[in-house]
Amino acid sequence: MRVYFDNAASTRTDERVIEAMLPYFTEKYAIPTSQFSHSFGVEVSDAISLSRQTIASHVGASDAEEIIFTSSGTEANNLAIKGVAYANSNSGKHLITSQVEHLSVLESMRKLEQEGFEVTYLPVDSSGFIDIDKLKLSLRDDTILVSVQLANHETGTLQNFEEIANIVKGKGVLLHTDAAISYPYINISADRFPVDLMTISPHKFYGPKGIGILYVKKGTKITKLIDGGFNEFNIRAGSENVPGIVGAAKAVEIFDYKDVEKIHKLKGLLVRRIEQEISDVELNGSRNNALPQIANYTFSYIEGESVSLRLDFEGIAVTTGSACYSRNLQASYILIAMGKSHEQAHGSIRFSLSKYNTEEEINYTVDKLAEIVEDLRKLSPLGKE
Ligand SMILES: *Cc1c(COP(=O)(O)O)cnc(C)c1O
Repeated sequence: MRVYFDNAASTRTDERVIEAMLPYFTEKYAIPTSQFSHSFGVEVSDAISLSRQTIASHVGASDAEEIIFTSSGTEANNLAIKGVAYANSNSGKHLITSQVEHLSVLESMRKLEQEGFEVTYLPVDSSGFIDIDKLKLSLRDDTILVSVQLANHETGTLQNFEEIANIVKGKGVLLHTDAAISYPYINISADRFPVDLMTISPHKFYGPKGIGILYVKKGTKITKLIDGGFNEFNIRAGSENVPGIVGAAKAVEIFDYKDVEKIHKLKGLLVRRIEQEISDVELNGSRNNALPQIANYTFSYIEGESVSLRLDFEGIAVTTGSACYSRNLQASYILIAMGKSHEQAHGSIRFSLSKYNTEEEINYTVDKLAEIVEDLRKLSPLGKE
């Protein structure tokens, strides 16, 4: 049996998405900027406009021009943070984010620090919730942007975003949220939450890779990072990834909340069985305010790395709280920021589910997991005293 529980990294592309994309490789392969020269360009330009409108209406944008296509969620985060910082540096050079953001946010911030900006990294509590009082205290007259994720990609913890948004917007500061792992699992909408910028990553919800979406509220000053043309309303140059754009719109359009129910139930089964059948386990992140598709556990006394290797041997794909950031096994900075010890962080495993997973896969996985954990604990030098 092959079981894929690494859907927070990427999901399988829905057949309907692939079907929608195919003609844009074989029949409609012009680029939209050629619309002024020939009709091949016109049909492609129309397809992009339609895709943009579809996405705009689903995310609650008031205008299709608020949707900017990039190459990835990573690029969308770079554009949101550096683009806003460069365009607004005459009003201030201070930015605020949290310690548990995705690396595309954290490294964009670090780059800005090297260039003379100042960044406040907000701490989180043991469940991964951002310190709201610290946020209030950190907002200054020269703060130009706050960038806070809607939910965490490693633990699933869902921020009290409405409260955060009200505080930030109450001070009149621009607000960006990295919703790459949250949208559309969490039904966020730009007309309900007062966000100015929002990152979306279609390959996290059955869309294609190689395409990212940045919602940019009309009137937000932003500098482009990729030069070489006037594409995307002069915010992002480069020939458009037409199949990717069409596929992204399809993924947004067909996303079905019944699947969220299904995933939620599967996670419930996983959580119940792990906690009933394996001793000394701890759920990392919030139990009640969390994404439906992520469950992150620490298995005491053993290394997550050994568990994931053994699971892989049984055909089961998960990720550990270590390794992924570096070759020399660093513990997850996210779990460390939540106050976990290095042992706890190294002993963690992330299970991330999709609509393609089944109860049978969950049951198979917990059966194997229970055996593996028991085995490893017998051998473990970290074993119980
Ligand atoms: C996946 C992810 C990203 C990066 O998106 P890509 O499209 O893979 O570049 C950024 N932030 C979060 C929270 C993510 O889960």
